[in-house]
Amino acid sequence: MIEFQNVSKKYDNGVMALDNVNIKIEKGEFVFIVGPSGAGKSTFIKTILKEVDVSTGKVWVDQTNITRLHQRRVPYLRRKVGVVFQDFRLLPNKTVYENIAFAMEIIGTNQRIIRKQVPMILALVGLMGKGNVYPNQLSGGEQQRVSIARAMINNPPILIADEPTGNLDPETSWEIMKILRTINRRGTTILMATHDREIVDIMRKRVIALEKGNVARDDKIGVYGYDD
Ligand code: ADP
Ligand code: ADP
Repeated sequence: MIEFQNVSKKYDNGVMALDNVNIKIEKGEFVFIVGPSGAGKSTFIKTILKEVDVSTGKVWVDQTNITRLHQRRVPYLRRKVGVVFQDFRLLPNKTVYENIAFAMEIIGTNQRIIRKQVPMILALVGLMGKGNVYPNQLSGGEQQRVSIARAMINNPPILIADEPTGNLDPETSWEIMKILRTINRRGTTILMATHDREIVDIMRKRVIALEKGNVARDDKIGVYGYDD
């Protein structure tokens, strides 16, 4: 589903953010990306979204070599990859329903399908009946559920979660992880960058550790493994 072949990224200032990275992630995997600050985690994620162009090597996303992708094809790539952020990034002036519907409207989905799909995804994330409230009327955990619903509404094969529990307390974090696990069991490949030791150690999933742009560890059932 995602493959990095000898990928390096050198920024204009000379920093090697990714240094000959080779990673292959199969369809349906759940993968944690860990590593100290500055290790290259964000660069890795941005590369998959083609927000960053690699210096050398090839990146495959859902059977497409995105390193040569024409700029005009990038929106189609982004449809294949749902993204969830630490700070939710919901539109404050839209309701929960409108935030999710908007993601369907921009790809031209008709209103009849939107009216059917949004309540279904709200049920999946446990937010039935919350469609008409605004993001600031919700708890952090509820806002993250909305952001997951928005990321998944167009049914992308890949979900990237960039520190999705970074702003949440441990109990709420586990509620979010249960939702991610459910989404993963339904077949979506999940890539989650995190500093949450407890979650990584308890989930017993594949762990890729980046350090100074290198793959320092890649374990099928891994641990967090840092003292920070
Ligand atoms: P992480 O997400 O693990 O903290 P990053 O991918 O953000 O790591 O950064 C990896 C390295 O690349 C760091 O040394 C960082 O300072 C550098 N870096 C990140 N983005 C840029 C940029 N736009 N320009 C120059 N250097 C950058
Ligand atoms: P899998 O189907 O085992 O998950 P990959 O995800 O690596 O395999 O690749 C998916 C598809 O991407 C392949 O069937 C092939 O069409 C294409 N592909 C992957 N790697 C290469 C490569 N090095 N050269 C040409 N095509 C490739």
